[in-house]
Amino acid sequence: MSNMAHQRPNSYIQVLPDAVSSTRTQPDPKSSKPDEFLISLQFSGNSISYYWATNQQDSTDPRLLDWANRPLLENSILINLQEFMCRETARESIAIELEDWQVSDEELRRIIDMALGRIRKAVISMPARHNFLYLHLRVDLIREQFIDASTIYMDDQVVRMVPAIESSIESLERKKIVAGSAVGECVVCMEEFSGECEVVSMPCLHVFHEDCIKKWLRTSHYCPICRFEMPTS
Ligand SMILES: [Zn+2]
Ligand SMILES: [Zn+2]
Repeated sequence: MSNMAHQRPNSYIQVLPDAVSSTRTQPDPKSSKPDEFLISLQFSGNSISYYWATNQQDSTDPRLLDWANRPLLENSILINLQEFMCRETARESIAIELEDWQVSDEELRRIIDMALGRIRKAVISMPARHNFLYLHLRVDLIREQFIDASTIYMDDQVVRMVPAIESSIESLERKKIVAGSAVGECVVCMEEFSGECEVVSMPCLHVFHEDCIKKWLRTSHYCPICRFEMPTS
């Protein structure tokens, strides 16, 4: 990958359905205010890079050369509802916690927006007597690089794609996404799941548009996000 003449960095973020749980009042023994509403936020995820070869001469689809998956450090923070209500304080606490993820300002802004949105939604739907919220946000940070195919020495870029067996593709589980429960984007076509739509879930729980993932698996048997392997013949 040393010979990149043309690079167009691109990045986007997918947040998987979060595990939300809330428990009854559990006063913090160290806290002087037993009724304090606490929010425990846990962040984990992966930084996934895709390398695509594009052809400047014709308009064929970019060809996937390689991809790499690096886990992001797990982080957790505890904030109280007052802090959360003050947007600036909430944004700052999360930003400090995610410093070691080394994301761009734009990526950080989007991660924080999504986190705050999820907290708001969870707080609203909690029973009134609950005052503790645990929220696990799994962030997939997807970065793409487009490389001009004419600058690549194909000899060192032999990528053998093995398709998944057809029966495993056909048996993938279909799921309905209900309006309002956004689960991010389909990483194959990069379109956001909007409103009510049907998606297909891989055994690793990553979801995609049905047509998109079927097309993908007929080329490569790996999950495009986590490299989960589907059976091959
Ligand atoms: Zn799609
Ligand atoms: Zn996956």
